[in-house]
Amino acid sequence: MTKINRAFNFSPGPSMLPAPVIKRLQNELLDWNGSGMSVMEISHRSNEFSHVINKSKQLLRELLNIPNNYHILFSHGGASMQFSALPLNLSSPQKIANYIITGQWGLKAEKEARRFSQTKIIANTMNEYRIPTQEELLIDSDASYVHYTPNETILGLEFPYIPDTGNTPLIADVSSNILSKPMEVEKFDVLYACAQKNIGIAGLAVIIVREDLLNQHQAHTPSLLEWQHLSDTNSLSNTMPTFAWYVLLCSLEWLKELGGVSVIEKKNRKNAELLYQCIDQSDFYHSTVSDTAHRSQMNIPFTLKNSELDVLFLEQAKQANLTNLKGHATVGGMRASMYNSMPLEGIMTLIEFMQNFAKKYGK
Ligand SMILES: *Cc1c(COP(=O)(O)O)cnc(C)c1O
Repeated sequence: MTKINRAFNFSPGPSMLPAPVIKRLQNELLDWNGSGMSVMEISHRSNEFSHVINKSKQLLRELLNIPNNYHILFSHGGASMQFSALPLNLSSPQKIANYIITGQWGLKAEKEARRFSQTKIIANTMNEYRIPTQEELLIDSDASYVHYTPNETILGLEFPYIPDTGNTPLIADVSSNILSKPMEVEKFDVLYACAQKNIGIAGLAVIIVREDLLNQHQAHTPSLLEWQHLSDTNSLSNTMPTFAWYVLLCSLEWLKELGGVSVIEKKNRKNAELLYQCIDQSDFYHSTVSDTAHRSQMNIPFTLKNSELDVLFLEQAKQANLTNLKGHATVGGMRASMYNSMPLEGIMTLIEFMQNFAKKYGK
């Protein structure tokens, strides 16, 4: 048998999946659970598939410690579809939704919400590459909700605290850090995430919503975007991306087997610590987020002293089996996205490569 080459893939999303998850999918592809069929070939309403639905909900609840008064919903359209669903479910053209902006995703969420509600940006610190303080968040007393992005995937900014919004519902887009560490779900009113970064592949979003917020949607809200409707139909209003749902379940089972979020958190923290250390200790690499308390554990952007070396860095990194390190166009330089699936070995390989590269070209 030829040896299979698996790269250390630092893509921001869709991102690297754990090898055991892919192996499992491969093993089960022709005959899933002795059914003689692939999971891709069966009805989303079949008994077999209802196991996927129930088990994925149960595991999410268990792994994230989600209280019983929160519903777990699944939707098409990734995280961006929820940018529209949010104002349609929780606001109206008469009300004002508050947005905290620390990067491109929050900005996009606010821009989309403007189609269905009034909005107000109550803090915007993205150009300063930092997280605002609680005191800087001037929340409207009658705001329909406050939206923020705990981890901004592109700028690599992560909130070190959960904003206190008093009685105003707090909504968080946790697309790039869901299940990377324990989250105090009860401090949020709605959490949502696409699957393709930390918990599977593209095609699916998870929405965790407190029960009493389910039924406040605008009258013309499309039924597929209406959370109450998703809840009433057990997220099966129409044919869902069943394979993506199954990959989500496999990823959750993989995580549980590892020991859950507190175990993966330690690995994630160690990975991030080592890479930031490598960047900070060198005068060849530079972190774009200077306040260490605001740095992301998942997405680490950094630049090279001389940007003319960027192309060479990427070429040689690829030869060393380190892929997708190119930074976002707005930041430049490099970005290492290291989600739950990135092993310590991947970071060690990256660090060794970076040190050698700096030695060779740093003079
Ligand atoms: C990737 C990402 C999105 C967009 O997800 P889609 O599934 O492509 O819509 C939204 N928010 C954050 C924080 C992300 O990282």
